[in-house]
Amino acid sequence: MEAGEDCCVKVAVHVRPLIADEKLQGCKDCVTVVSGKPQFRILATIFLFCQRSGSETAYVQIGPHSFTFDHVYGSTGSPSSAMFEECAAPLVDGLFQGYNGTVLAYGQTGSGKTYTMGTGFKDGCQTGIIPQVMNVLFSKIETLKHQIDFQLHVSFIEILKEEVRDLLDPSSMSKPETANGHSGKMTSPGKPPIQIRETSNGVITLAGSTELSVTTLKEMAACLEQGSLSRATGSTNMNNQSSRSHAIFTITLEQMRKLNVPGDSGLNDTMNEEYLCAKLHLVDLAGSERAKRTGSDGLRFKEGVHINKGLLALGNVISALGDEKKRKEGVHVPYRDSKLTRLLQDSLGGNSRTVMIACISPADINAEETLNTLKYANRAR
Ligand code: ADP
Ligand code: MG
Repeated sequence: MEAGEDCCVKVAVHVRPLIADEKLQGCKDCVTVVSGKPQFRILATIFLFCQRSGSETAYVQIGPHSFTFDHVYGSTGSPSSAMFEECAAPLVDGLFQGYNGTVLAYGQTGSGKTYTMGTGFKDGCQTGIIPQVMNVLFSKIETLKHQIDFQLHVSFIEILKEEVRDLLDPSSMSKPETANGHSGKMTSPGKPPIQIRETSNGVITLAGSTELSVTTLKEMAACLEQGSLSRATGSTNMNNQSSRSHAIFTITLEQMRKLNVPGDSGLNDTMNEEYLCAKLHLVDLAGSERAKRTGSDGLRFKEGVHINKGLLALGNVISALGDEKKRKEGVHVPYRDSKLTRLLQDSLGGNSRTVMIACISPADINAEETLNTLKYANRAR
């Protein structure tokens, strides 16, 4: 499997280090990154827990499988700067050139999606993709602001069970939390549900969601923080709401360039204006796991009934976009199959740039889900 040169979707894999909890459970690292190549190998032997006898009686071997993607970030060292430079910085540049972009973090719950994107304000997430995007964005604006007028808007929403929830809605901020730590309802009382609409020129808009105008890095960081807090619990409990929802932080950049057009004689110059508008979606996707670990009742794995509609549709859209033959034949891309793909429609495919970062845990107990993640990511290429 060789990495493609001109795929419309770039795929990177981020292997996080073993975390304390996994070390305590005696997990072994089953992922080896091949040095100097965007390639790695997975090999694990997993013992299945037999409920009846209460002992480990069967085992399955996963792999060895080798995968190659556009980029692979290993579990050692700080991956954040290289990952940002290679995956997100080109999309920030694209924003200034008027191209929409999308960065998606995919993976099972606990694989590091929120850490990678920086959608949570804990565990040093300030080094995630979103905070770095904001830094670069504002330093670019600083250098260009004498020639160009900029306007920035931010929205932050969550899609849960095919319903859109506004994470920046000021009226939901002070809502008391329920016993399980969720902030109650999907929408504020009396507020119409948020609707995804398409304008006549194909621009997707979110009617009814808060779009905040920001002028400083501090203001934008406050939006990220406010929305992150508003998003369901920050814990990594397998069944919590945030693991089943997609969080989408969107930055819209409007530019008004003043172009000096020389007049006939070189005397009467006229001022022409060029307007550009583009947006960048930074997406912390719902957990991709199908098998749910319960822990308490002695079963290691239990088939989950929940299959996320957005993730299914996203996989189909991205694989339709990645198939050059199909694209040339003008094959239908099923954007309308979910709220997630509908919302991202004008920022996936076409002229836009898309990067999927597949997040994986190196622990052998997660090998089965890791393999599913890698297969999903591989379909995108
Ligand atoms: P997800 O959002 O996919 O459920 P999280 O981002 O919450 O996963 O990560 C799960 C746990 O792993 C958290 O405790 C987080 O701090 C830790 N973690 C994730 N990625 C890394 C990393 N690159 N380095 C160190 N710890 C990480
Ligand atoms: Mg998360």
